[in-house]
Amino acid sequence: MEFSSKLLEKAVNEMAQLPGIGKRTALRLVLHLLKQPKEQTRFLTEAITTMREEVKFCRSCHNISDNDVCEICANTKRNQQIICIVEDIRDVMAIENTGQFRGIYHVLGGKISPIEGVGPSQLNINTLVEKVKSGSVSEIIFALSSTMEGDTTNFYIYKQIQECDIITSTIARGISVGDELEYADEVTLGRSILQRVPFEKFFKNN
Ligand SMILES: [Zn+2]
Repeated sequence: MEFSSKLLEKAVNEMAQLPGIGKRTALRLVLHLLKQPKEQTRFLTEAITTMREEVKFCRSCHNISDNDVCEICANTKRNQQIICIVEDIRDVMAIENTGQFRGIYHVLGGKISPIEGVGPSQLNINTLVEKVKSGSVSEIIFALSSTMEGDTTNFYIYKQIQECDIITSTIARGISVGDELEYADEVTLGRSILQRVPFEKFFKNN
């Protein structure tokens, strides 16, 4: 791609670093910004910079938060003894949108994936195991996507907490295997949380 301006080229190259954005799309977005009033670009860059500088992760569940403890964990109306284990914040958002879950979450930050070089120590697993072992948890719900990596991660966590006297369940899968939570519709996802099944039964059937 030949550019008439180094400034334009630099902006396009930076934009093209984003996932799913090729050079052509990057150019289209940059040219769009050029047509907007200057302050519009400033609002955008300030929002991104401030978010990047100031965002925190909840010290209890690792959800993205503006405070040390996220709004969900800090909400006394929620059942702090029921923890739904999810891969990332998009899953928290998807489940929150259903309005069917009144417990709290634990955000792992990914799934165990030997192919991608992601091991258990790179995920937020230890804090979860500690929480369960402290006796403050009555049930954990596995809500990872039903991929091989998701199943491996579920099973790894299950092994760590197997001896603890808690209920382990997994969300019922009305959605076809391999569907990511964020793409499931709200009704199906809401139902799958309410109709969760014991985890032991789930993996013995597979
Ligand atoms: Zn939290």
